[in-house]
Amino acid sequence: DVVARFCPSPTGNPHVGMARTALFSWAFARHHGGRFVFRIEDTDASRDSQESYDLLLDVMRWLGLDWDEGVEVGGPNGPYRQSQRMDVYADVAQRLMDAGFAYKAYDTAEELEERRNAARAAGRPSGYDGLHRDLTPEQQAAYEAEGRQAVIRFKMPERDWTFDDLVRGEITFGAENVQDFVIVRANGQPLYTLTNPVDDALMGITHVLRGEDILSSTPRQMALYEAFAEIGVGSGFTPRFGHLPYVMGSGNKKLSKRDPESNLLGYRDQGFLPEGLLNYLALLGWSIAEDRDIFSLEEMVAAFEVERVNPNPARFDLKKCEAINGDHVRLLSPEEFVQRLLPYLPEGVDVDLVAQAAPLVQERSNLLTEAAEMLAFLFAGEEFAVDPDDAAKQLNEDGLEVAKAAREALAGLGEWTTESIEAALRQALVEERGLKPRLAFGPVRVAVTGRRISPPLFESMELLGREASLARLDAVL
Ligand code: GLU
Repeated sequence: DVVARFCPSPTGNPHVGMARTALFSWAFARHHGGRFVFRIEDTDASRDSQESYDLLLDVMRWLGLDWDEGVEVGGPNGPYRQSQRMDVYADVAQRLMDAGFAYKAYDTAEELEERRNAARAAGRPSGYDGLHRDLTPEQQAAYEAEGRQAVIRFKMPERDWTFDDLVRGEITFGAENVQDFVIVRANGQPLYTLTNPVDDALMGITHVLRGEDILSSTPRQMALYEAFAEIGVGSGFTPRFGHLPYVMGSGNKKLSKRDPESNLLGYRDQGFLPEGLLNYLALLGWSIAEDRDIFSLEEMVAAFEVERVNPNPARFDLKKCEAINGDHVRLLSPEEFVQRLLPYLPEGVDVDLVAQAAPLVQERSNLLTEAAEMLAFLFAGEEFAVDPDDAAKQLNEDGLEVAKAAREALAGLGEWTTESIEAALRQALVEERGLKPRLAFGPVRVAVTGRRISPPLFESMELLGREASLARLDAVL
């Protein structure tokens, strides 16, 4: 049975790279009818925050990546926050030492530095040289009497490490590149390299999908799994690993957590649909078929084969992300579109009015915020009201002339419908004044909606109503 997981550290704002990893792991679990575990790796109290934890949960729920086991939902292998599992790591570290897989090392930072430099100068590998591997109890006691504090190091078996990466195929790390590494700091804090495989082992994780940035820790974790099998931590197997490609931002640099386009919740604020964003994130390393960009999450799950993930760096393209979102906006039913749009409109808006107006903007919006802005003129309320001074400033003298003529043409209009408004304005502005439609209707649009871009003008004026439409023309004049 497949068990996959997502196990971010709660530092800073949840970012795009994380969501891509979560999506691929989730889709993998779902494709295989397996379980998906959501664990939080918060072992570093100096960097982790509750705020960031809350945001991670928020974003996973918004994206709709549900988990069968993990934080908040619980499960048989909890707790699922590493900060609540410190006793587990201490116990495993002790058992590794008892069984001879790990040892205390008392080297000071200066000693390590000196030996590293000497090794470099001599062209030898500069990792830990194993000096404290086989200290006698007397030597240990002597160091402790000096007041030195020990880290716990894992004793790396001296051999090459080869594994069949789910994304990149066979990868080998030479023995010389993987030295004994620290699993517990001198202050007792266990490190990622230990806590992550301990939990993956205890939680029965069969497939580890994660970013390429972690690749170099894989041989260490493989060695730990072999030791776990000996001391009875977990069920004795090593998971399969797949390392997902880097995501590149602008300027062909790795997209960094600090780039504004990394901030996941920003996408919600800007009015992306979760399905649109997920569709785009899926394209960062995967595709459902050649010549096909748009698909639903269900279709992704059905088709997702991790072997088809492209190991080459993926390029993040915000324009494309927006365009893909736009396609999903247009795929919504009119009713669904209204429901999605409401949170972006002022509170207490007239939902019937929104429903009437929504079809005017659904086709033209990539983002829900774009749709909301285009409809803003319909709703009174501070941030959304049309400011006549603002509108007037956008009009030059000719524009004001046109607005005046429009006002006159509409004054005696009987019926207030899209058709009658259009007929009256065409007659007065295009036919009588000989204006091009753009020059004729542009100023009216600005006066009535406050913007140069709006839903279709005559429909908008019908929806806004006679009184308000005329009042806005008056206000501008
Ligand atoms: N907490 C690690 C991270 O966020 C998890 C890496 C892994 O999936 O093994 O990078």
